[in-house]
Amino acid sequence: MILDNVRIYQPFDQRNSDEIYAVELRDGVFQAIHSSPYHGEKETVDGNGKVITPGFNDSHMHLLRYGLLKKELDLTETESFKEMKEMIENHYRGLEENQWFFGKGFNDAQFDDLDHLLTAKDLHKIQADAYIFLLHEDGHECVISEKALELLKQEEDFKKEPDVFKEKDEQGRWTGRFKDTAVHYIKRHFWGRSVEDAKRALQAAFPHISQHGLTSVHTDDLNFIKSYDKLWQAYTELENEGNLPIDVQLHHYIFDIEDLTRYLKDHKLRTGDGTKQVKVGAVKIFLDGTQRLHTAAMRNPYPENPEASGTLIYSQEQVNEMVAEAGSNGMQVAMHAIGDKAIEQAIQALEQKEAYTNERRHRIIHAQTLAPDLIDRLRKVKPYIETQPSFLLGEWDKKGKWTPKELLPFCDAFNSLVRDHIPITLSSDLPIGSINPLISINTAVNRTDLEGNPEGGWMPQEKLTVDDSFNGFTSVPAEIEYQEGKKGKIDRGYQADFVMLDQHPKEIQEEELHKINVLQTWYRGEKVYDRKQS
Ligand SMILES: [Zn+2]
Repeated sequence: MILDNVRIYQPFDQRNSDEIYAVELRDGVFQAIHSSPYHGEKETVDGNGKVITPGFNDSHMHLLRYGLLKKELDLTETESFKEMKEMIENHYRGLEENQWFFGKGFNDAQFDDLDHLLTAKDLHKIQADAYIFLLHEDGHECVISEKALELLKQEEDFKKEPDVFKEKDEQGRWTGRFKDTAVHYIKRHFWGRSVEDAKRALQAAFPHISQHGLTSVHTDDLNFIKSYDKLWQAYTELENEGNLPIDVQLHHYIFDIEDLTRYLKDHKLRTGDGTKQVKVGAVKIFLDGTQRLHTAAMRNPYPENPEASGTLIYSQEQVNEMVAEAGSNGMQVAMHAIGDKAIEQAIQALEQKEAYTNERRHRIIHAQTLAPDLIDRLRKVKPYIETQPSFLLGEWDKKGKWTPKELLPFCDAFNSLVRDHIPITLSSDLPIGSINPLISINTAVNRTDLEGNPEGGWMPQEKLTVDDSFNGFTSVPAEIEYQEGKKGKIDRGYQADFVMLDQHPKEIQEEELHKINVLQTWYRGEKVYDRKQS
């Protein structure tokens, strides 16, 4: 098939941006790029002179969690039990046995058709045989169905949750209402645990993914389903059913070296192995926490809380061992490190010969607080740095509370990294950051929020060019998949993943980059999103 009459934008392209092309697609790849108009025999589709650009590849996100959130039914507006019952029935059309129902935001104190607060008995009237979990508006209280209660009674670990958080009736039996940490336990252990739940949640996420031009994602989902095999099954079943509109790298979260050796022993697949669309991603390791909670490990105290400087989760020896074991066994590593102390720890582990940092293309996620000595060492080991520019939208004015003044110029130092030839990707950390790559790109280029604050950009010397920003969403993530030469570009022989935009990124004002709209998304030569039809 020929997509005729399109312009092409891709980073660092030699082509004249005014040139019009006819792009030939066959078997999921770009077969050829012809000049336009096309005069051959093949079937053509008119691109109306619009701009196409390589499909976006989001190298750090939590897709299953995002999908689970999308599946949550919002009950905040319900004013009666009857109304809530109807909303649940409508939301989960075709109620199935053993299915989980999840709703959030109810406030039963204001239900006019109920003279008591909701219990498991009431939920029985909604659907007797279902697992129902409803979260109260304040987030600290929930009510679950009788069937879910049965499941909970078999949980040994739930016995450790304080009794005060478990409401009882006069006979001392659980009513189905729980509070605080008991709520967290139930939410973490049950919601989204089956392969079917996961598939449903992922399918709720895909339309949003395609709408924003994403054709590949690297996702860390394990904490939301607890089993890598189930996760693998969910994604590959969707692939086999023809319902997976993206390439996926599935990260494997580990807590300690035992988790890693267990994976290596029980699984043959290593990073980059898998099916056509679903591949083993990196071993994910958390080295520290977050700055907002003062748990990101800093070499200096937090200016707003001089008592705190965060905490490293592991000793240097533990990190070295995990990274060396992964690297020597064909596994790539992705380390969450936000504070400079955690980043230093990551670098030290990556400097080991046994880490095989160059071959495996290990990654550091976030790396938000750098310093000259750290940049020096990064320049030598060259791990991939996974940035989340959209975090800056809500954080630029808080950086001074977390980071000593003299280090502020090294926060989210995107441009310094690129100029030092340290490869960086741009990513969302969905559902935390923005799903829209054009918002991330806008933030990387302008270093302001979407209202343009602060004027001139925060630490403007670290602004990225438009080319570098698009590169971080296309070519660079393909390299960490070991797919350079095959993905991330519009060129002969490359996988035909691309996005049609309503404006050329180099022609729009840089402050307006986030206003570019995705008109169409094409994945492996097939159109998976069309704005006109949605
Ligand atoms: Zn994350």
